[in-house]
Amino acid sequence: MIKENLAEVEKNICAACERAGRDRNEVTLITVSKTNPVPRLKEAMDCGIHIFGENKVQEMLEKQEELPETLEWHMIGHLQRNKVKYLMGKVALIHSVDSFRLAQEISKEAGKRGITQDILVEINVAEEESKFGITAKEAVDLVREIAKLPNVHIQGLMTIAPFVANPEENREVFRALKKLSVDIRRKNIDNVTMNVLSMGMTNDYEVAIEEGATMIRVGTGIFGKRSYTV
Ligand SMILES: *Cc1c(COP(=O)(O)O)cnc(C)c1O
Repeated sequence: MIKENLAEVEKNICAACERAGRDRNEVTLITVSKTNPVPRLKEAMDCGIHIFGENKVQEMLEKQEELPETLEWHMIGHLQRNKVKYLMGKVALIHSVDSFRLAQEISKEAGKRGITQDILVEINVAEEESKFGITAKEAVDLVREIAKLPNVHIQGLMTIAPFVANPEENREVFRALKKLSVDIRRKNIDNVTMNVLSMGMTNDYEVAIEEGATMIRVGTGIFGKRSYTV
């Protein structure tokens, strides 16, 4: 099942890239493995997957213990400051930085270990009350502030688009995030690169790719529906 799903997702990614005149290599698929047990991740690994996204620190660390160190992990969920220390050295990228205080904590803990942590700033483009992330208006100021911290590096932006029946409804959201990243890049802020746009999930990753996503986060489309009892 995972194998067939992955083949389908890969086919869709290629088709979206083709429609947008983009190279397939510009888009990184993050396999969102939250709530799925280790054997399911192993199954995905057998199909060539080595990049996983998780939204809970504890769950991710438990899985890491049982899996090879060669895997690449992404923290995509809302992160509490008191959990930051456990993540250091364990994740390639933290997608969900939504406040200066969180970035400050990450920089402090990364500094203790002599590393620089790559991060994305999470933008609540649609300004949904139920979602974390800062508004597009607040973004430039926050990016400027975070950029001054010594042990984090902003690689780009992330958004979680609204849940919609028709993915076309999110095209404007993705377009707005892309535009924001271009605006920020033009400001040439030290210690900030805007190479990563993390946007698009199972429901809307093809539209996100058409609008410039460089990372898509796909869970259900690969593993099937999550059972939250796991
Ligand atoms: C769960 C989750 C995803 C994956 O969602 P699917 O609809 O299952 O593809 C992507 N991004 C974030 C932040 C998530 O929490």
